Amino acid sequence: MRTAICPGSFDPVTLGHYDIIKRASNMFDKVIVGVLNNSAKKYVFDKDMRVELLKKSLSDIPNIEVISFDGLLADLANIKNAAFIVKGLRALSDFEYEFQMALTNKKLNPDVETVFLTTSAEYMFLSSSIVKDVAKHGGDISKFVPKSVLSDIERVLCRGK
Ligand code: ADP
Repeated sequence: MRTAICPGSFDPVTLGHYDIIKRASNMFDKVIVGVLNNSAKKYVFDKDMRVELLKKSLSDIPNIEVISFDGLLADLANIKNAAFIVKGLRALSDFEYEFQMALTNKKLNPDVETVFLTTSAEYMFLSSSIVKDVAKHGGDISKFVPKSVLSDIERVLCRGK
């Protein structure tokens, strides 16, 4: 059984996330989407909602589990028996940080390999921050987030508008 973890903030889930997770689900027997809940960080969507949005948008993929976590990714991999961490790479700007994290995780848990998937070209520019910025200024985010959760995301981001 080859299990991979796709970690991230997912604040909120975007089509870029969906694309990476879907592709990972074709490569591994099981994919655990780990929703990071760092108490020092401020999120627009709370932990439960980020998990719910992912569950809803990924419901068409059978071998997925969505969980939240707040400790070390290397420990989560150990607990979940996952030998792989899958991350998406958008641009050179992602690279330095991801390289550092991959090497750190390898030191903390030598049994885990980090695998990088290149972003699909159409999502190269896409991030959760972009979605929040566009929505804040009244823009259309329907091309950026999964259709099944568009209205849930708009409800939060367009609150009070
Ligand atoms: P962000 O806040 O930058 O959107 P997250 O921390 O939620 O991202 O990212 C979770 C994972 O998804 C990371 O591996 C990140 O590199 C990847 N990812 C995010 N957006 C994209 C995208 N548009 N294309 C490919 N991978 C992406």
